[in-house]
Amino acid sequence: MRCPSCKQDMLAVEFKDVEVDYCPSCGGCWLDRGELELLIGNTAIPFPAKTKGRRLCPHCRKKMYTGPLSTTEIEVDVCPQHGLWLDQGELQAVIQSGGPTAETSTLAAYCKEVFGK
Ligand SMILES: [Zn+2]
Ligand SMILES: [Zn+2]
Repeated sequence: MRCPSCKQDMLAVEFKDVEVDYCPSCGGCWLDRGELELLIGNTAIPFPAKTKGRRLCPHCRKKMYTGPLSTTEIEVDVCPQHGLWLDQGELQAVIQSGGPTAETSTLAAYCKEVFGK
């Protein structure tokens, strides 16, 4: 799968049975629909406001919507059918915003190891 940001091939990284597509070139990552909820253990993450962004969904090549995720300040790109794109550092930020539980700290540490910073 190609990175929606810099068009390089992404790598699949597995964590807790969730496969995350990571771009080693720009440091962003793609989560398929429902994967973020699995990762942070939250089943109700609202989609951001429906403003069309510039990036294309790596699955259907349609323009993704952009906006802040849930109650956070983190801007994400979302395809309502396929999933969401997070720029470098945003996955960690989202995970941390889920609360400092043992689970999210482990995950944050893991991300730091895999994705750098
Ligand atoms: Zn990239
Ligand atoms: Zn799509």
